[in-house]
Amino acid sequence: MPMIQPELSVVVPFYNEGNGVDAFLNRLEPVLEQLCAAWEIVCINDGSTDDTLARLVARHQRKARIKILDLSRNFGKEAAMSAGLQYASGRAVILIDGDLQHPPELIPAMVEKWREGIEMVYAVRRSRGDQRWSTRLATRAYYEIFRYLSDVQLPEGAGDFRLFDRKVVAALNRMPERNRFMKGLYAWIGFRQASVPFDVEPRGDGKSRWGSLRLIHLGLAGLTSFSNFPLHVCGVLGAIISGFAVLYIVFRIIRSAVFGMDVPGYESTLISILFLGGLQLLTLGIIGDYLGRVFNEVKRRPLFIVRESHGVAIEQEPAVENPVEPLRNVGTCVR
Ligand code: UDP
Ligand code: MG
Repeated sequence: MPMIQPELSVVVPFYNEGNGVDAFLNRLEPVLEQLCAAWEIVCINDGSTDDTLARLVARHQRKARIKILDLSRNFGKEAAMSAGLQYASGRAVILIDGDLQHPPELIPAMVEKWREGIEMVYAVRRSRGDQRWSTRLATRAYYEIFRYLSDVQLPEGAGDFRLFDRKVVAALNRMPERNRFMKGLYAWIGFRQASVPFDVEPRGDGKSRWGSLRLIHLGLAGLTSFSNFPLHVCGVLGAIISGFAVLYIVFRIIRSAVFGMDVPGYESTLISILFLGGLQLLTLGIIGDYLGRVFNEVKRRPLFIVRESHGVAIEQEPAVENPVEPLRNVGTCVR
């Protein structure tokens, strides 16, 4: 293997995409061939239970530029992409889904922008025509709320189909957080960014791994990692309710002084107990969510564990300039 630095690295997470691996690589390779002389594809097998790994290995044996990181289990797409970003060595790194929903033919347009000096190029889906209106409405609402609550601006319709300059990859690799809401991180790090539009294609095979519940979970995780607003809401709500309670108590005291005690007052008692009880639980839930997040960060577990690699030297330090302290235990090779 010549040790020249590839110009382009393409990072692809695969989770049970066995049937699509070859179709995907067959479409991606010619695009890269045309673009530059030195490229690599870093495939991450995210704990697939089908023949994804076997097919990838077969491709690697035919062409050493197709490299593989095999994770020890399914760590999730975000962790798989982080693994790829760590070990990709190109001067520009492209993230793309392995299910052919992101057309590889868009890559030349992204690379062109990069060559013009843009440091992060993200593909924005032109329409969400494939989604139900309820999903579209929920997405819309989520972006609005996010914009309002946190100080990073998420470009709507932009996903994980992106090109990063090496500087951006280095910055991303230095993000120490374990809860990786990547869209938020991409927006947070800054740099010169530009978008290219594209149409999402139907999945090549199988179905999306993101059910509604998982999406809601990701959405909430995104909000609480980029905004402290929910914590403020608790305090403000508490203050407002206590204020009302004080007024109400004064009102009741005056009323009993003027009209005497009235026995049937238990509904108001019951209502306030229930209401405050509910509110306290909600508040505890929100605080608990942040606490859980802190707990996860404090454990400092690696984001992913590599079982074995093909064509990528993982015994060395990851291909990161200035690996900073928090990264030392990330992606250790466990044998
Ligand atoms: N993926 C992964 N790990 C997972 C789930 C998905 O590496 O736990 C990969 C999957 O193989 C695909 C990409 O991430 O290449 C996008 O996944 P999917 O199509 O399920 O998500 P969507 O397109 O709905 O966002
Ligand atoms: Mg998909």
